[in-house]
Amino acid sequence: MRSKLVAGNWKMNGNLASNQALLKSLIPLLKPLATARAAVCVPYPYIAQTEHVLRGSGIAWGAQDASEHEHGAYTGEVSAGMLADFGCRYVIVGHSERRALFGDTNEIVAQKYAAVLKAGLTPILCVGETLAERESGVMEQVIARQVEAVMAQSGATSLERAVVAYEPVWAIGTGKTATPDEAQAVHAFIRSRVAEQDICVADLLTILYGGSVKAANAPALFAMPDIDGGLIGGAALVAEEFAAICSAAN
Ligand code: PEP
Repeated sequence: MRSKLVAGNWKMNGNLASNQALLKSLIPLLKPLATARAAVCVPYPYIAQTEHVLRGSGIAWGAQDASEHEHGAYTGEVSAGMLADFGCRYVIVGHSERRALFGDTNEIVAQKYAAVLKAGLTPILCVGETLAERESGVMEQVIARQVEAVMAQSGATSLERAVVAYEPVWAIGTGKTATPDEAQAVHAFIRSRVAEQDICVADLLTILYGGSVKAANAPALFAMPDIDGGLIGGAALVAEEFAAICSAAN
């Protein structure tokens, strides 16, 4: 039985004052959650602040990326071990913005995923196709390669300690959402690719949907059998909206 997870991806937004207000409002709003889990993935400098406010609240926190390296001469990088020091539970790896803008290839993403697991944290592995890839019929190949890179590096059983987020690139920040049926089809495809290697792991794997999820469309998406919650960008910056999405998962 999979419990639902809703994770916010704040991206490069916020400041000390606005974060404090957002985090403090989330605590009472998310208190009634019985079965669904909630988390926020915040920019690095605000992880300590987030830990301070959320510790003991039941809301988990995490980061949006981590280095593939453990330590050393990697100026500007942050290791998964450092994130563990600040109580992070989740680390997003392979977000499409990092793949497109910062050169994160499938191989680098697989290394980051392995580094996050090694530090005892849960990677949220993002996969998804561009509109051009969907329209040219290579969507499944693209997604299979993204998932298989990780299984090749860390084994299919590693997915027991991970979360996958299907985020069609054309739906991120655009206001366009995959329909529940479109999203369900890809989630079932991802689960079937994992099942080819380990059926039990596939069955237990949490697969989130991300891409313009809002309070209004969350219930229909979360009602699909292979959609186990959401990775939420823009709507995670508004406490009431994020809370309503979490309630839809509950
Ligand atoms: C994201 O960045 O992971 C995301 C899903 O963004 P949005 O919800 O704004 O489309």
